[in-house]
Amino acid sequence: MRILVTGGAGFLGSHLCERLLSEGHTVVAMDNFVTGNPRNIAHLSDNPRFQFIQHDITHFIHLDGALDGVLHFASPASPIDYLKLPIETMKVGSLGTHNVLGLALAKNARILFASTSEIYGDPLEHPQTETYLGNVDTIGPRGVYDEAKRFSESLMMAYHRAHNLETRIVRIFNTYGPRMRLADGRVVPNFVAQALRGESLTVYGTGSQTRSFQYVSDLVEGVYRLFQSDFHEPVNIGNPDEMTILEFAQIVNEVTGNKAGIIYKDERIKGDPQTRRPDNSRAKTVLGWEPKVKLREGLVDTIAYFRSVL
Ligand code: UDP
Repeated sequence: MRILVTGGAGFLGSHLCERLLSEGHTVVAMDNFVTGNPRNIAHLSDNPRFQFIQHDITHFIHLDGALDGVLHFASPASPIDYLKLPIETMKVGSLGTHNVLGLALAKNARILFASTSEIYGDPLEHPQTETYLGNVDTIGPRGVYDEAKRFSESLMMAYHRAHNLETRIVRIFNTYGPRMRLADGRVVPNFVAQALRGESLTVYGTGSQTRSFQYVSDLVEGVYRLFQSDFHEPVNIGNPDEMTILEFAQIVNEVTGNKAGIIYKDERIKGDPQTRRPDNSRAKTVLGWEPKVKLREGLVDTIAYFRSVL
């Protein structure tokens, strides 16, 4: 298949490009480098089945030749990024999704959209199943990301219903691994970089808020299986091993041997979700997928990566 990956130079996009190439597909990666980085795909440039196009998908997308599939992963994804880039975030998740859907329709290509656990907002149901409708503050600082992703899901379903387009929606929970940006502000790069520098880890709020962390290879496997399936309803892909942010900080200090401890800071952004954990039953039933990589295993490669870029 010839497959377009929007956000192809990003953290997840670049890992997906690699996986698609290793499965024998031809890949067109597209990115405008707002949060992506050419370094993430530099090692793919010699592959004759890999092509890169620098383009902002909020503008009309020209692509010559046949296209069989699209993985739509373009968007700022870190809370710090979308606070800095609120309008870009809303545009890529609305105009961008519309353009990508228009391209998929014109080429009769299957399209998979990277949605997020953030569509559940600060959830009142725990763990989150795909049937939970969410608790999002439309006008809060996180609303630009959450609502753009929700709009995109609706637009995907509209194209599916109106045009019978083959659509897939993955709801991605917190994912980490090599090629995350050191300074993207998320908890994994922050804590690992602080630990490697021998600094105290900055816990925002009380640290009692929970998350669960999925290693990137598990995410890539889930996305690839969903893309190949015929299932058009949303599927959660995440690791259910939930912990408090304080517990996570203690693990990072332990595995890095950091003695500098923890310092508490004010809540970073109003409306920080207090709990988050995927219910993966659907992914298991529909895709036969379950996460495999334990946190302490995934942290080994991640720490080595951050050490190499510090
Ligand atoms: N967090 C923290 N210290 C940091 C960065 C993040 O305590 O240096 C917390 C943040 O407040 C949130 C959680 O870690 O509760 C996860 O934040 P992240 O930015 O990784 O992603 P989110 O899940 O909020 O989208």
